[in-house]
Amino acid sequence: MLPEFRNEPLTDFSRTDNQNSMRAAIEQVRAELGRKYPVVIGGYHYAGPDYFKSVNPARHSEIIGEFTKGNKDMALAAVKAAAQAFETWPWTAPWERARYLLKAAAIMRRRKFELAAWMIFETSKSWVEADADVAEAIDFLEFYAREMMRLSLPQPVTPYPGEENMLYYMPLGVCAVIPPWNFPCAILTGMTSAAIVTGNTVVLKPASTAPAIAWKFFEIMEELSLPPGVLNFLPGPGGAIGDTIVDHPQTRLIAFTGSKEIGLRIQERAAKLNPGQIWIKRTILEMGGKDFILVDETADLDAAAEGIVAAAFGFQGQKCSACSRAIIHEAVYEVMLGKIKERVARIKVGPPDDPANTMGAVIDAAAYEKIYSYVEIGRKEGRLIAGGNKGPESGYFIEPTVFADIKPDSRLGQEEIFGPVLAVIKCRDFNEGVSIANGTEYGLTGALFSRSRERLERGRWILHTGNLYLNRKCTGALVGVQPFGGFNMSGTDSKAGGGDYLLLFTQAKSVAERF
Ligand code: NAP
Repeated sequence: MLPEFRNEPLTDFSRTDNQNSMRAAIEQVRAELGRKYPVVIGGYHYAGPDYFKSVNPARHSEIIGEFTKGNKDMALAAVKAAAQAFETWPWTAPWERARYLLKAAAIMRRRKFELAAWMIFETSKSWVEADADVAEAIDFLEFYAREMMRLSLPQPVTPYPGEENMLYYMPLGVCAVIPPWNFPCAILTGMTSAAIVTGNTVVLKPASTAPAIAWKFFEIMEELSLPPGVLNFLPGPGGAIGDTIVDHPQTRLIAFTGSKEIGLRIQERAAKLNPGQIWIKRTILEMGGKDFILVDETADLDAAAEGIVAAAFGFQGQKCSACSRAIIHEAVYEVMLGKIKERVARIKVGPPDDPANTMGAVIDAAAYEKIYSYVEIGRKEGRLIAGGNKGPESGYFIEPTVFADIKPDSRLGQEEIFGPVLAVIKCRDFNEGVSIANGTEYGLTGALFSRSRERLERGRWILHTGNLYLNRKCTGALVGVQPFGGFNMSGTDSKAGGGDYLLLFTQAKSVAERF
């Protein structure tokens, strides 16, 4: 009997032993940088001929690794291998599949510091953020293992005289798993393990800016001797191989997390029938956000400022749940700006392998240019309160930047920036604050700080986001506690880490036998 699911505790870095373990892991990973990695299809490792590099965003000269660049032929072969593995994998017992996840969780727990260190180098996560990413990956494994055991039990149906009736959940087929780079351990592990534990087989195409941590996950699954072809590892540019995987007639479902643009592209392509295809493809699409924290005049202003700064600048603002709009009641507006500014001044930007740096670099050159272009737009659209500059040239650093007096319908008020740029918007009253909060095409996360019971109650229903938080920040959803997914252009609301999630990877079959 498994113990009840509990979230993995976060590492306490105030303890010297944990600091020493993290430092040792950083040195271990540093010594392993620059290696070459294969594509793995049907259990066979293929190295080259072409490679692409993963680089440290905080130190351009540092090569994390060179990854075999998946091409169209490899993509076709990977789908074929997954289809072949699907002939047997669904027939393994659900408990057996669940145990692969439990065992992977145990290995990740043992290698927690090392996995975090890979993300510190590859994605410029701070110690705390990298540790939380690994903890969330462990949570997904533990949670979905238990969920599969629950789903494999007889499902309730109404008794009918003279018949035995049952309903059970079957896998769908080959699942393309396409994760983003921003939670490169947690989201990748969550989507992949959900597909595998429900009996599907997977073509995993990791994000090109975070293939090393994806490889570490694959390595763990390989170490567990997952049967060949159940999980195929196919790094490579999404623009070159993504369509091939999505369009393939043997691809049955696509689990994607990333930008609105690519999500919609996948949706459109998946809807098109290709020769030989005998099903309607299913898509699970989790996309961007323009998340808000709304603060009214009754709120605890220190708690609100703390929440805004943590949610806006944690991991450089590169969380889908990041607070990108602070909507503040005019009566407390200037006071709040002062409190936000004061807290932003304490953030130290620099390479996060040094724990004194609490904010690292943004992910790559394209993000750096795009985010900085929004800083330039912000200078025209608002009043600069903090930041506004690039950081040290050795990496893609941008200071935590705050613009006040942003209009709700301006570019900073509407577009996902995905970087350390916060737009502060003034509202006249609570009702106007709500309509500003709801006034974008997205609906992922939001928070309300208020002491008014009436507004907190109303806010529960009228603030239109998949994840809403009252009197706390809008980031940091926990598996099982706050199932995560968004409304409108933020995606299909496929609540990851929730009790409904695995169903998305299954189809229900009803069987009746007449006695
Ligand atoms: P992205 O550019 O859309 O990339 C996501 C994944 O799609 C990557 O693996 C990418 O591969 C791949 N891809 C690119 N072109 C493709 C194509 N034509 N066909 C199939 N796949 C393709 O997003 P990102 O920059 O990695 O992530 C940031 C975005 O993710 C933000 O918008 C953020 O809000 C969103 N996000 C949402 C959630 C959520 O739960 N709602 C969670 C995290 C992030 P390459 O890397 O090779 O291009």
